[in-house]
Amino acid sequence: MSTVPELFGSLVFSDSVMQQRLSKQAYKALQKTIHEGAPFNINVANEVANAMKDWATEKGATHFTHWFQPMTGITAEKHDSFISPIAGGKVIMEFSGKELIKGEPDASSFPSGGLRATFEARGYTAWDPTSPAFIKDNTLCIPTAFCSYGGEALDKKTPLLRSMEAVNVQALRILRLFGNENVTRVSSTVGAEQEYFLVDRDLYTQRKDLVYTGRTLFGAKAPKGQELDDHYFGAIKPRVKAFMAELDEELWKLGILAKTEHNEVAPAQHELAPFFTTTNISTDHNQLMMEMMKKVALRHNLVCLLHEKPFAGVNGSGKHNNWSLCTNTGVNLLEPGESPRENAQFLLILAALIKGVDEYQDMLRVSVATAGNDHRLGANEAPPAIVSMFLGDELTAVLESIESGSDYEQKEKVKMSIGVDTLPRFSKDNTDRNRTSPFAFTGNKFEFRMPGSTLSIAGPNIVINTIVAEEFQQFADQLEHSKDFHADLNKLVRKTIRDHKRIIFNGDGYSDCWPREAEKRGLLNLKTTVDSLPYYIADKNVSVFVKHGVFTETEMHSRYEIRLESYCKVLGIESQTMIEMARKNIIPAVCAYQNDLCAAAAAKKAACPGANCEVEESLVEKLSSRNACLYKKVEALEAAMLDAKEYDDIFECAKFYRDTVFAAMQELRAIADDLETIVGETYWPFPTYGELLFGV
Ligand code: ADP
Ligand code: MG
Repeated sequence: MSTVPELFGSLVFSDSVMQQRLSKQAYKALQKTIHEGAPFNINVANEVANAMKDWATEKGATHFTHWFQPMTGITAEKHDSFISPIAGGKVIMEFSGKELIKGEPDASSFPSGGLRATFEARGYTAWDPTSPAFIKDNTLCIPTAFCSYGGEALDKKTPLLRSMEAVNVQALRILRLFGNENVTRVSSTVGAEQEYFLVDRDLYTQRKDLVYTGRTLFGAKAPKGQELDDHYFGAIKPRVKAFMAELDEELWKLGILAKTEHNEVAPAQHELAPFFTTTNISTDHNQLMMEMMKKVALRHNLVCLLHEKPFAGVNGSGKHNNWSLCTNTGVNLLEPGESPRENAQFLLILAALIKGVDEYQDMLRVSVATAGNDHRLGANEAPPAIVSMFLGDELTAVLESIESGSDYEQKEKVKMSIGVDTLPRFSKDNTDRNRTSPFAFTGNKFEFRMPGSTLSIAGPNIVINTIVAEEFQQFADQLEHSKDFHADLNKLVRKTIRDHKRIIFNGDGYSDCWPREAEKRGLLNLKTTVDSLPYYIADKNVSVFVKHGVFTETEMHSRYEIRLESYCKVLGIESQTMIEMARKNIIPAVCAYQNDLCAAAAAKKAACPGANCEVEESLVEKLSSRNACLYKKVEALEAAMLDAKEYDDIFECAKFYRDTVFAAMQELRAIADDLETIVGETYWPFPTYGELLFGV
């Protein structure tokens, strides 16, 4: 086996490969495109394409694909071979600049939320040179954006790139305020920690709910769950270890900086954290990581569950989105500085984040709203559905002192004057203690903890980048022409803290008093996807995304529709699966057990007329009343499903799914789970929670 440094990035058309294989001229032109967004000409594209093809075919690739991220939330690819016919019935391997730059997959089967009706059905993919090409399954994959012919984004990458540009433009204005003329680009950076479950494949295939929906729709609690906290950071089992080792290797080959792996809180739950990188690449990498997790798991006869809540009663899985801003000179803008000037800049950036998170708490909530994540947010494990910010005691004290200004003279408290004083050194440990906060400052970055494990991180980062761009813009507008910069800066930061400090909450986000306290503060508590989504198309939100060129109004409306549709579809599939499992598996299993009990009692009585058949009879009674109830609940769920079809308005339909269909699902599950505790083990048609959670 090769060493890790040799292995790392071996399947990536990386910077060093480009340097080796491209002419100086083409390399320089491409770098200009990557780092400054400069357009390139077809000659350069042809040279790059040819070099890519040579490199890829040497590595055994036979095909290429534009690799894109439609609104399904997963990635899409359509493979074309490199072959091109020549005389004599032979072929050569070819790949042109045109094929590299643009592809034309049929867009008509991807969700477009009405864009298809208004615009052309066809769509095109366009090369994103800022994310490197790579080889997967003998196919050269070219990261691309996916748009309609009218130019409307049909994917998650296009608006993400636009939001990165928006934050870059405005962040540069902020840096210039502080006299920084060297930086030419500011990029948002992300490290996404990925949680997942591993279950045995043989058990998995016996559960239609896992196969069709990714989560268990039935399942009585196992005697043991996560009570003993013995899984978190526990010793990793050999089969899991082997999986992780192979996963690391696959990810490293793809240039993905897989770094930290450990067991998570729930049994069978694990986490993988990569090193951070620019948001665009991080997003691509996270998609690839999820794909590889599933693929490598199968090789170990395991299945990787990425659903936010595969099992009721134990923790679900999230994806912590660690976010920061980095200059092209390598400075992390969320790192408090050494000098008063740097600290003043840090505090202004922090103020922008506080204001942004407060003003757009609804959009942050919307960005993580999915049917799957509804099971997680607000349960006692993940952050609550209320968006708030954790800054830690030290930083909060600093802000308090800035807010109260120079009159504030209380002893022992720091008194800060922005641009004059140096911030106290924060102990990083302190800043990372609060695990219950949805948006926590962790010393030199913010950790957004609300995204669910399946979610593409594009959505949340589009929102974070855009709202930060907006606040930067407002600040820059106010300060650029200031006559007394120092005084105006102080005033602005102080006012921002005063107006938006309600979003700061350093306490326990899981506690019962927090929702009440949050309500008093006027913070939103959007419990479900259906509660949140209308905010997507609220005027104030549409206008900020349009203003920064991240979405058009049409794109936002189409996305709103796609997400409502997807919510309804997920619940629809789950209901259908429950009905099938109940009718075809559970009811027959209960009947079989009942029959055997009756037969056993009858046999006993035949052998000895006065025999005591109390157990059999009492069980049969219990089973038959519950089975009758189950039957009714199945009918009720089916009726609800039919009623749901009557809705023309997608929002009303989603509401009906949330209020009526979901309630019917819960009722059906409750009775089935109760039955599971009574029915004999050999009769129950599915592997149990105990087997699934402790079976690896
Ligand atoms: P934790 O205590 O949550 O494990 P770490 O410091 O290990 O904290 O970081 C967690 C994640 O944050 C990692 O993916 C890491 O790469 C990422 N991260 C660190 N610095 C930054 C940054 N400046 N921008 C974005 N992500 C970062
Ligand atoms: Mg974390």
